[in-house]
Amino acid sequence: MTTIRDLYSKFAESSGVSTDTRKIESNCLFFALKGDNFDANLYADEALEKGASFAVIDDPDQQGDRKILVENVLTALQHLANFHRKQLKLPIVAITGSNGKTTTKKLVLEVLSKKFKVRATKGNLNNHIGVPLTLLSFTAELDLGIVEMGANHQKEIESLCKIAEPNYGYITNFGKAHLEGFGGIEGVIKGKSELYNYLIQHDGLIFFNRDDDIQVKKAVNYKNYSIGQKALSDCRVTFVEANPFVELEYSHLQIKSKLIGEYNFKNIAAAIGIGRYFGVGKDEIKEAIENFEPEKMRSQVIEKNDLKILLDAYNANPTSMKAALDSFKKMSATSHTVILGDMFEIGETTLEEHRQILKICEALNFDSILVCGEHFSEASKGFENISSFKTTTDLTDFISKNKPKKSSFILIKGSRGMQLETLMDAF
Ligand code: ATP
Ligand code: MG
Repeated sequence: MTTIRDLYSKFAESSGVSTDTRKIESNCLFFALKGDNFDANLYADEALEKGASFAVIDDPDQQGDRKILVENVLTALQHLANFHRKQLKLPIVAITGSNGKTTTKKLVLEVLSKKFKVRATKGNLNNHIGVPLTLLSFTAELDLGIVEMGANHQKEIESLCKIAEPNYGYITNFGKAHLEGFGGIEGVIKGKSELYNYLIQHDGLIFFNRDDDIQVKKAVNYKNYSIGQKALSDCRVTFVEANPFVELEYSHLQIKSKLIGEYNFKNIAAAIGIGRYFGVGKDEIKEAIENFEPEKMRSQVIEKNDLKILLDAYNANPTSMKAALDSFKKMSATSHTVILGDMFEIGETTLEEHRQILKICEALNFDSILVCGEHFSEASKGFENISSFKTTTDLTDFISKNKPKKSSFILIKGSRGMQLETLMDAF
């Protein structure tokens, strides 16, 4: 069998790695991963024909010219990534949490890029495959690397930390996301805190939000740097407003972001804190935050036919849903409409969590509340002023025939699987 050193020498001569035959760059190293419904060992020849230098496989029946046989392709990819990470010796900042990882990661990247050569996780490549791919994209000329880590069960962050060996870490929040896999909110806190545990055991530094009591308790006795409104250092920030765009004050500077939703204040505070820690100047920090644009479907404001629509259809869970509703209510408008789709991966408490959200909607007294999906339909029984629809398509049909009042402000939010962005055509 091939050793990690053999593999590393092949990697060092390659143009990078690929796990997808549709994205083969000439001279890349192809890793033939297996999934539930595919076995890329069968595509190794295609990868080589398209220009890969070598293909890493684990099916002995597929052996051949320019194929490297290993025990397990996924493990080989992870070991190679860790080996590479050790060679690079660059400081790595890991970011995990239930909500806001990608947004925070991109904000931190913008801020740190003002002073350093930095690279970060692309898109949402934050799992047991994405983290190794991210590390393998880091090169010797970088000053810093940022790695987003996602998880939906215990021990996942621990194993990602063993691969990436971060020196710094930040947890965006402990929220009600992936409750099913983690085993409730206590499980989420335990699972995400694996990042803290790793840093504590390896003399790393914890960036933590001093406005979050749980984070304070977990981090304060270890090597840390606090951020947020109560930060002890000079990265302290003050919330000004989110109407709809988040504005804040930092070191006597007014910062006006292009981000919507009060929760983004926390994400911006993290980027300011981490930037300040690494010595980025305050004017550069302000510029980086002000130029930052949100990604598609993550809290975008769209104006259409005299309606203002806040499209946040990228994903949803009880915590981000509540945060979005609270924040939306505070934005000025003549009329507030909320359109919500089901939240997935909640487990046993699914119905109860959906009911809670509807209670919050009622308490916030929105002018109009429309929900869709099996869970919301079931949960809305007994609520008087809520219109419910079984599917996104049913709701789309309804909106096409019953357009909202002119100049309404509309929040759209639901889990990815609900594809609420398809509602946009109805307006
Ligand atoms: P994923 O699990 O898909 O990787 P993520 O953690 O990377 O998600 P983002 O993609 O940054 O999160 O944001 C997704 C949504 O989460 C946003 O559109 C917003 O509704 C919500 N959100 C973002 N930041 C926070 C936060 N700090 N607290 C609560 N909700 C947030
Ligand atoms: Mg993400």
